[in-house]
Amino acid sequence: MLGLMQRHELLISAILEHAARHHGDTEIVTRRADGSSVRTNYIALAVRARKLASVLRRLGVNIGDRVGTLAMNSDRHLELYYAISGSGAVCNTINPRLSHDDIAYIADHAQDGLIFCDPAFVPIVAAIAPRLEALRAVVVLSDAAAMPKADLPPGVALHCYETLMDAAAAIDAWPRLDENTASALCYTSGTTGRPKGVLYSHRSSVLSAMASNFADVLALRATDRVAVVVPMFHVNAWGLPYIAPMAGAALLMPGPKLDPASLLSLLNEERATIAVGVPTIWLNLINHLRDSGQKMETLKRIIVGGAAMPRALIEAYNQLGVWVNHAWGMTESSPVVTLNAPKVSCLKLEGEAQLNRRASQGRVVFGVDLCVQDDTGCEVPWDGHSPGNMMFRGHWIASGYYRTPQDIGDGNWFPTGDVGVFDADGFITLTDRTKDLIKSGGEWISSIAIENIAVAHPEVAEAAAIAVPHEKWGERPLLIVVPLQGCMPAPENLREFCRGKMPDWSIPDRVIVVDSIPHGATGKILKSELRRIYASAR
Ligand code: AMP
Repeated sequence: MLGLMQRHELLISAILEHAARHHGDTEIVTRRADGSSVRTNYIALAVRARKLASVLRRLGVNIGDRVGTLAMNSDRHLELYYAISGSGAVCNTINPRLSHDDIAYIADHAQDGLIFCDPAFVPIVAAIAPRLEALRAVVVLSDAAAMPKADLPPGVALHCYETLMDAAAAIDAWPRLDENTASALCYTSGTTGRPKGVLYSHRSSVLSAMASNFADVLALRATDRVAVVVPMFHVNAWGLPYIAPMAGAALLMPGPKLDPASLLSLLNEERATIAVGVPTIWLNLINHLRDSGQKMETLKRIIVGGAAMPRALIEAYNQLGVWVNHAWGMTESSPVVTLNAPKVSCLKLEGEAQLNRRASQGRVVFGVDLCVQDDTGCEVPWDGHSPGNMMFRGHWIASGYYRTPQDIGDGNWFPTGDVGVFDADGFITLTDRTKDLIKSGGEWISSIAIENIAVAHPEVAEAAAIAVPHEKWGERPLLIVVPLQGCMPAPENLREFCRGKMPDWSIPDRVIVVDSIPHGATGKILKSELRRIYASAR
């Protein structure tokens, strides 16, 4: 017997319709490149997204077509999210910080017919356009007065976004799509090999957004003002463009300026209550607060993922009265799979045990599952010290990559390439990426564990531990640190600092103090680059 309940397709357009109807006057604030703020709200967003849908139709976009975006976080990028997906086309957000070669590869692999870009990225599009067979038009996210010039190949039109919008009439209603229709396409960071496309559906995006806002996950409320510091080209800004309108929370979009002074001014002037971004952002911000003596006036909580948030940094924010939620996921998982929120058992923990628990990547959200397996595929015990390969599956996990033969299938465990340890309470601690582990004399050393200890040193701003080849031990850890401004910690002093905090044999043999560490396009430390630079360091 079947239940007697209504069935509606889970569609992204329904999120915007809900926000417009029930939270219409809730603000969306964007900082433009010149520092000015543009204020709009969910009603205005809904109207403009429908106008944009009619622009897309006029430009020949059909259901299933891929449309590229090369843009920072803004109201216009939000309009694109809703208009492209809402029309049944696929929003292919591309990271402008990637190399031109990778951007060209992605836009070509996705077969983007149109690319919408910020004025600052027009030179990138112009440089790669001759390599993009499918490209018909480039639309610059600008008004007519600020339109840049662009030298595009014959057959590729250049349009001004606001001019197109002025001439458009809003569509009457969003199409009623099948919920399994593809909605967005994000390519993975591609630290090894070519980037791979993860093709989200309306269903997976809506389910992921609903679950991501459970009380023990993001828990956004209609009274919140959320600073979306994670870029909209990084896993759909971790779902925030869907989650915030569902909850009726205000969105604060930083635009292109992500330096700590600009960020702090956005957080304070716009009364942010929650901010979301990668650890590097929070590291730079706390150093700026220390140097400038400024304060955070309204921020209550930050949600951090994308790379390990060091325990010392979590403590530093807690001392400022800002609660830190450490989360883990990846492009292939839409991304949220785990988030650190306490269980009853955590309330009994004290001191070191409590801090270590709070620094873990958290516990699994309903709708996805995670298991940790040994190399033979058996699940390892949840004992806090048996690491294994992290595998996940669920409603918002990829079943394969776009236009590549590798198919994981439905219901099967997806290998994440991360290594982690479950404790008895179901909290997972990531010990490494499989390829970043250090194997010394047959024993595994976690590079994240070394880095966490190093950044707790009072003179260290950032740290990376990598494996370097060793004749006797196979590999040994090398620690590379960036000191805090005005400090020059002695390498021997740093090694000494590690003593007692990790087994003696896993203390790095050598510490190198450098001015900066290379980061990839989504803010992660480029360990592959460090391994290349320091391959012969001993
Ligand atoms: P991306 O697909 O670019 O979001 O990268 C996903 C990868 O980032 C994961 O597989 C992890 O290796 C890493 N990552 C994400 N969140 C965390 C975290 N909280 N701690 C450690 N590594 C993380």
